[in-house]
Amino acid sequence: MSGGSFASAWADWPSTPLPSDALGSDETCDLAIVGGGILGLCSALDAARRGLSVRVLEAVAIGERASGLNGGQVIPGLKFDPDWLLEHFGETRGEALIRFGAGMADCVFDLIARETLDVPHERAGWIQAAHSEHAARAAELRAEQWIARGVPAKVLSAEDVARLTGARGYHGGWLDPRAGVIHPLAYTRELARAARKAGALIAENTRVVRLQHENGAWTLAAHGGHTLRSKSVIVATNAYADGLIPGLAQTLLPLHSFQIATAPLSEATRASILPEGQGVSDSRRIVIYYRRSADGRLLLGGRGSMAEPTQAQAWAHLEHAAKRLYPSLGDVAIEKRWYGRVAMTFDHLPHVHEPERGLIVAAGCQGRGVGLMTALGPRLVDYLVTRDAETIPFPITPIRPIPFHAFRNLGIGAAIAWYRLVDMLER
Ligand SMILES: Cc1cc2nc3c(=O)[nH]c(=O)nc-3n(C[C@H](O)[C@H](O)[C@H](O)COP(=O)(O)OP(=O)(O)OC[C@H]3O[C@@H](n4cnc5c(N)ncnc54)[C@H](O)[C@@H]3O)c2cc1C
Repeated sequence: MSGGSFASAWADWPSTPLPSDALGSDETCDLAIVGGGILGLCSALDAARRGLSVRVLEAVAIGERASGLNGGQVIPGLKFDPDWLLEHFGETRGEALIRFGAGMADCVFDLIARETLDVPHERAGWIQAAHSEHAARAAELRAEQWIARGVPAKVLSAEDVARLTGARGYHGGWLDPRAGVIHPLAYTRELARAARKAGALIAENTRVVRLQHENGAWTLAAHGGHTLRSKSVIVATNAYADGLIPGLAQTLLPLHSFQIATAPLSEATRASILPEGQGVSDSRRIVIYYRRSADGRLLLGGRGSMAEPTQAQAWAHLEHAAKRLYPSLGDVAIEKRWYGRVAMTFDHLPHVHEPERGLIVAAGCQGRGVGLMTALGPRLVDYLVTRDAETIPFPITPIRPIPFHAFRNLGIGAAIAWYRLVDMLER
């Protein structure tokens, strides 16, 4: 598992194993999807519903990577505010991006309802909690932009944030009521179940090692020797991109997001921590995010080291953060520690590429992939079917590796240390 011997708080989810759709010899299909996370599975579900024959090839087990390990916060909106998107992309694409971002959380909750997915979830909103006066003003401006667009967002005072989170030390913030929380492993595995039911075949433990365009079709070669021929391909490998698409991994800054979960809290402590069930991210440059789980644990996450963690000490910064926010936690045990990879891009926007006709690649969800990838999957399929580029709100760009990518870990390590210091000084 990506979390080494450190199992996630979701890992106990009692889902039945997927039936095996192991890849046979020389199979063919309309659409091959590399990667069985949220993006790959939402694409597969949509394509199968349109009557395409679909094959998902996943290197490990479904839910073992980011989609099954994440914090389960379903947050609408891209990293940028509506006004910024309009200013930088102009009226037409700017509005398309705003609309897409605005609908991201709806896509998840509507899908859960429509497909009757067995996924614990709660839609009580998301709080962005401001760690400084300056951040509180920025939160107010952000909320106002959404309010002007008809979203019943709320500007929160320091007292409001204290009441809703039970946490200490915030200067204000805003509440986005469109957001919510889900059980991410249940969601990912249920997506796989729904995609299979719709007719898609899903091969786990099947790493694609070569992709070639020949005689008008794509040939995918899997580790172990089997091949698949397909009219179109979606590469949905995100932060786990390997060398399959030349240069792709070098367009991304893969970061580690670490998480901890406490033991289930007592009734009294539960009543004082996030009593209304919102998810929270703070406004720090090195963001801390937290929520409660359905079984009453506090889950808290943030950036972690780029080295593979081998000891509990690697999560100590998150334990300190939890106790700083909630002194009432006292000696409550930290029962779970885990981590996964998130893909950042230099421009903080997801990237969509089509290096050759019929081969679509999407990556870079800046830690917001639950809603983003759920919403994007069907759009990618629509584009493949209709060739209407307007169905994808993001520009389709060439694959452009980041200069000096080989030194990324040094750069990321230094940047994280620097931003942590600035965050601390601003407190
Ligand atoms: C700890 C953590 C916390 C997070 N918290 C949140 C949150 O609260 N809210 C939120 O919105 N987002 C969060 N994220 C981000 C979110 O999980 C991701 O953006 C989202 O899951 C991405 O989905 P995906 O399908 O694009 O990629 P993934 O889930 O990473 O799936 C990619 C898949 O491709 C497979 N693969 C790679 N190469 C190959 C190959 N050659 N052949 C076959 N398969 C291959 C991988 O095994 C992997 O399963 C978090 C991420 C982490 C790690």
